[in-house]
Amino acid sequence: MKKLIALLGSVILFVSIAHAQTIYSPNNYIEYHVGNVPIVLSAPHGGGLEPTSIPDRTCNNPTTVRDSRTRELALAIDSMFHLRTGCRIHLIVCNLRRTKLDCNRDIVDGACGNPDAEIAWTAFQHWIDSARLISESNFAENFYIDLHGHGHTKQRLELGYLLWGSRLRNSDSTLNTPTFVGYSSIKNMVANNVNNYTHAELLRGPQALGTLLANAGYPSVPSMQDIHPDTADAFFSGGHNTRVHTCGTPNVSANGVQIECNWTDVRNTEANRIKFADSLSSVLINYLNHHFNMNLGFCAPAAASSISKNPLIVFPSILSAGEDIHLQNNQEEGDYFIYNLTGQLVQKGKTQNLIELKSNLAPSIYYLRLQLKNEIRSAKFTVH
Ligand SMILES: [Zn+2]
Repeated sequence: MKKLIALLGSVILFVSIAHAQTIYSPNNYIEYHVGNVPIVLSAPHGGGLEPTSIPDRTCNNPTTVRDSRTRELALAIDSMFHLRTGCRIHLIVCNLRRTKLDCNRDIVDGACGNPDAEIAWTAFQHWIDSARLISESNFAENFYIDLHGHGHTKQRLELGYLLWGSRLRNSDSTLNTPTFVGYSSIKNMVANNVNNYTHAELLRGPQALGTLLANAGYPSVPSMQDIHPDTADAFFSGGHNTRVHTCGTPNVSANGVQIECNWTDVRNTEANRIKFADSLSSVLINYLNHHFNMNLGFCAPAAASSISKNPLIVFPSILSAGEDIHLQNNQEEGDYFIYNLTGQLVQKGKTQNLIELKSNLAPSIYYLRLQLKNEIRSAKFTVH
């Protein structure tokens, strides 16, 4: 217990001084990318670490299946959101495999009594709490997402608002009763959104999260296009994290949702993960702006706050480390920043239209962000 208290002490210290940084629990079992916008994203089931010092979980008939590639997807969401806005979401990732720790259960079932697993579990949960407190002290609203991957047959996103399939199969008027609003992980949003949308509208109206995602090419349930899962459908309605880190729990004001991602087009390839991450980022920006009047593009300097609709053209788009990148449609000098897939800055400088890449860049996909006087332009390129 002493070890745990010491850890939490250092966690609080770190959080208070850290900004746009990543902090780790012992052995890197948990990582927290500290953000500066009121979006908190957690990925509990995508970890791959299997230390022999932690025995496999056997207590209480555990589920141990991994949500493949959700760790990578969460990192891509962090990167793409940053690329779009210059701002950082809060990201908390469990790097332990689910056979060792389940970060979406209570500590008894999740850690099965192993002290190292308990420390990791506590860091994961505590950092979500910290992220929410940081958000609440700076913003009127904040939004929580617990990211998962499902293996169900229907290739669609399942949005868990703590409403089971049978509850979602009710009429709009039933969903709008205080009893059903009371179950919901967005009940505070029902009470306080700028357009006074009802619960049913926020679940499956034209501006519902599922509808916006479906419009972006990612079928979702519930949404206007797919209002509820059918009786025969498997459906995840939200687990431990969604319950304890949203207004589903008394004294927590955050609204939120569990997003269960299907495999095809969302998680299955790096290119699809990046595409989905960018779409989700765009949807979240619009969603929070529409419902809460929240402008999440403020992290860039005021004069350069608008994201250009005119993408930067880089040539070649696939190149070797040490080669020159030519910016074909830019005439103005600005500051450029190159980020890797995990959102780390790997190179920066000033340019008008030529960048000489560092010679030690590992083969991967990178994001280029060019900050000009009045706009931000961005592009993606590959080093092979
Ligand atoms: Zn999961």
